[in-house]
Amino acid sequence: MRAIDDVACSKPGCDNFGQPGVNIVCHGRFTTKSGRRRRYRCKSCGATFSTNTGTAYSGLRCGRRAFDQVASLRVEGVSLPATARVAGHSRNTIARWLERASIAAKRFNQQMLKDFPILELQADELFTFVASKRRTIWLFAIIEVSSRLWAGSRLGRRSYRHAKAVLNDVILRGRLVGVPLIATDGFEYYCGAILRLVGPACIYGQVIKTRRNNRVIRVERRLKIGTAGRLNEALLESEDSETLNTSFIERLNLTIRQGSAYLRRRSTSHARCEDQLREHIELFRCHYNFLRPHRALRFGREIRTPAMQAGLVSKPLAWSHIFKAGGPSPCLSRPSESRSTSGPRNSPRPTCRGSSGPTEQRRAA
Ligand SMILES: [Zn+2]
Repeated sequence: MRAIDDVACSKPGCDNFGQPGVNIVCHGRFTTKSGRRRRYRCKSCGATFSTNTGTAYSGLRCGRRAFDQVASLRVEGVSLPATARVAGHSRNTIARWLERASIAAKRFNQQMLKDFPILELQADELFTFVASKRRTIWLFAIIEVSSRLWAGSRLGRRSYRHAKAVLNDVILRGRLVGVPLIATDGFEYYCGAILRLVGPACIYGQVIKTRRNNRVIRVERRLKIGTAGRLNEALLESEDSETLNTSFIERLNLTIRQGSAYLRRRSTSHARCEDQLREHIELFRCHYNFLRPHRALRFGREIRTPAMQAGLVSKPLAWSHIFKAGGPSPCLSRPSESRSTSGPRNSPRPTCRGSSGPTEQRRAA
């Protein structure tokens, strides 16, 4: 049973909105298909609500577990019709649930992906299409290598505008530590965008691979910003890269392709419209950053998620954390300690805190 201290008023205009435990009393119970639930009442505004009110679970006619399972299936590469068959609901119901889940995931990404340290970035684009093969589209993805955080994503044409927008988003959200090392493929517009956004305060190089019969026959590395001496210093400091490379973003691309039915190669279940694909990517990104333990982030018995490694959360999250965010029961905190600037690997292990973290402070503001 959830303690009443954790529940906050869910009515946006109320003085107690988002303030857990303030003027909240129990107000009986109600019965759902999955059991009896508590109802709460705000003594200030008189509004009654349950812990599902205002969340992605609101008005659901089945248990939360079924909703979570649908989200899990979709981020493990299962197509929409197959998810509907496994879950035992109609396709329309599943599509509606996924839309809600994606909105919650997008909101969560916007709220939580902030102030992460940027030591090393790699950027790349993934090719796909929507509706018909003539409507090609690119997914821009940026990874922060030291934490493996999928820091930025954007869908659109392969143009300067989108390349700049995705980089700008990552740089504004994150915190540059020292002189960051940035690596991309040979896409011409990155250099201009990086010069404009970061200027000479970084080291930027391109890795250009020449392929013949689907095999890489030549790798060319071009240093675009910074000197060879500074590049060597950055590589010596890096815990992940020994040479200028794009291996980490390519590995992320593979994870994305394997985990998304829309982005699989030679798939019949491609997205039918751009918004559908955009929503799906938000859900997938949320899962990758916050829920999925990353095998490269194993520390003894603990396997961290990229968000843990970046210092954004203190434990691997569950879907319920994502889908309940914004509702009357804020249940998440960020670790209080700021991370050491010598690199996330060297930082102290994040500790789990009570319910008075910055998340609540932001809510109260
Ligand atoms: Zn109220």
